[in-house]
Amino acid sequence: MCKLSHRAINQLGQLLETSVIIIGAGPAGAGTSFFLSKYEIPHIVIEKEVFPRDKVCGDACSGKTALVINRADPAWLSEILADPAGFMPSWGITFVAPNRKPLDIPFSPNRTPQTKAPGFTVSRLVFDDFLFRKMASPYCTILQGTTLSSIDDTAGRVTVKAACNGVYYEITAPVIVGADGDKSTVRKKYLNAETSPKTYAVGLRAYYEGVTGLHKDNFIELHFLPQMLPGYLWIFPLPNGMANVGVGILSERIRKKKINLREQMLDVIKNDPLLAPRFANARLVGKIQGCGLPLALDRKPLSGDNFLLTGDAGCLIDPFSGEGIGNALYSGMLAAAAIKEAGEKGNYSAAFLKTAYDDVVYKRLGDEFKVSAALQRLCKYPWLFNFVVNKARKSPSLSNTISSMFTNMDLREQLSKPSFYLKILFNK
Ligand SMILES: Cc1cc2nc3c(=O)[nH]c(=O)nc-3n(C[C@H](O)[C@H](O)[C@H](O)COP(=O)(O)OP(=O)(O)OC[C@H]3O[C@@H](n4cnc5c(N)ncnc54)[C@H](O)[C@@H]3O)c2cc1C
Repeated sequence: MCKLSHRAINQLGQLLETSVIIIGAGPAGAGTSFFLSKYEIPHIVIEKEVFPRDKVCGDACSGKTALVINRADPAWLSEILADPAGFMPSWGITFVAPNRKPLDIPFSPNRTPQTKAPGFTVSRLVFDDFLFRKMASPYCTILQGTTLSSIDDTAGRVTVKAACNGVYYEITAPVIVGADGDKSTVRKKYLNAETSPKTYAVGLRAYYEGVTGLHKDNFIELHFLPQMLPGYLWIFPLPNGMANVGVGILSERIRKKKINLREQMLDVIKNDPLLAPRFANARLVGKIQGCGLPLALDRKPLSGDNFLLTGDAGCLIDPFSGEGIGNALYSGMLAAAAIKEAGEKGNYSAAFLKTAYDDVVYKRLGDEFKVSAALQRLCKYPWLFNFVVNKARKSPSLSNTISSMFTNMDLREQLSKPSFYLKILFNK
């Protein structure tokens, strides 16, 4: 179905002109749109699905997601926190080491009743529809249920041809934003780049009802099982007695070890001594579904003449945690700022966009990606993981330090340095 939301276009079948074309209305597209609307820049969003639509994901949103939403409009974050039927506040993480010893890491160890939860879980069906509806603005036109047929660029203008219910659109703009996810058409058109199994992970997601033993403060659980390292199995509690359960592993490992991910996940749920009793009366709701995760393991280009890539289209998923929603929204926010600057200068060249966008994204997120890449490499050593968890279980101060690492990037960087482990070894 094609729906022209928010603003009627009466030139159906004719050439439409706008300032920015966005392909994709997920978190990256929504993040770009929110801030373009703030800057009063007209834009057209082309989305192939019709909302509400599902997206295979772990459904966990971190503080970065909350930060961007709060910057877009603080009232939206209050709306989220006031909707327990849709959104579940999360207060921490339980890491389960390869030796199956758990370590609880609260996000806010000294919280008061006034403290806002730093993160939350929400099904993507609900969350992406929430974001989609918030895109409504006089500057935003959404064409959903629309098939993109071509992207061409000539003389500094991009032309997109798209069809919706037998109606053809030709839309031109000086710049296009690829917010079209993992299999981005915009990325393929401009960078012609294949993803490498070294920097790409595959994930499976299942919804279960009736999983027992979930943390009373809705901690998300990451189980680093030896057969999955450097990936993990997760259990994320959701509202209404549901849980999002899944696994994510590097493609390279899946290929090398010829892993059948679905079988491995079901085997763990059925036979792992910690998990099996918790799933004894749980029921799988719907199908187990898979999707790819393009990881930010190297610095890839994010723009060029007249185009920018955001979210998964730019391969911006955290290589350790698998977090991509916050980075999608955040990169969308930065893309809008870069487009504003480019528009003011009338310069959408590769050189300008690299400085205004790529450099800014990597300046803000680059250190985080490097630390996460180092942590991902360390996860290949199960004994190291076991050692840190064993020590932290006995030492409240080490446990507090690790807890602070989730909110303090400088502290988190310590985790990727050998000196951190030597200090633990010698109890310094
Ligand atoms: C198994 C799994 C678990 C994950 N768990 C988490 C998690 O717990 N927390 C987290 O933060 N991240 C997680 N991620 C990553 C997260 O899902 C992504 O990083 C995030 O969805 C990226 O947002 P996006 O807007 O870039 O892309 P998407 O959410 O994929 O949105 C892209 C949009 O573009 C549309 N589109 C695609 N092609 C076209 C086209 N040709 N024309 C028009 N529209 C198009 C799509 O329909 C879609 O609506 C997980 C990923 C996977 C696979």
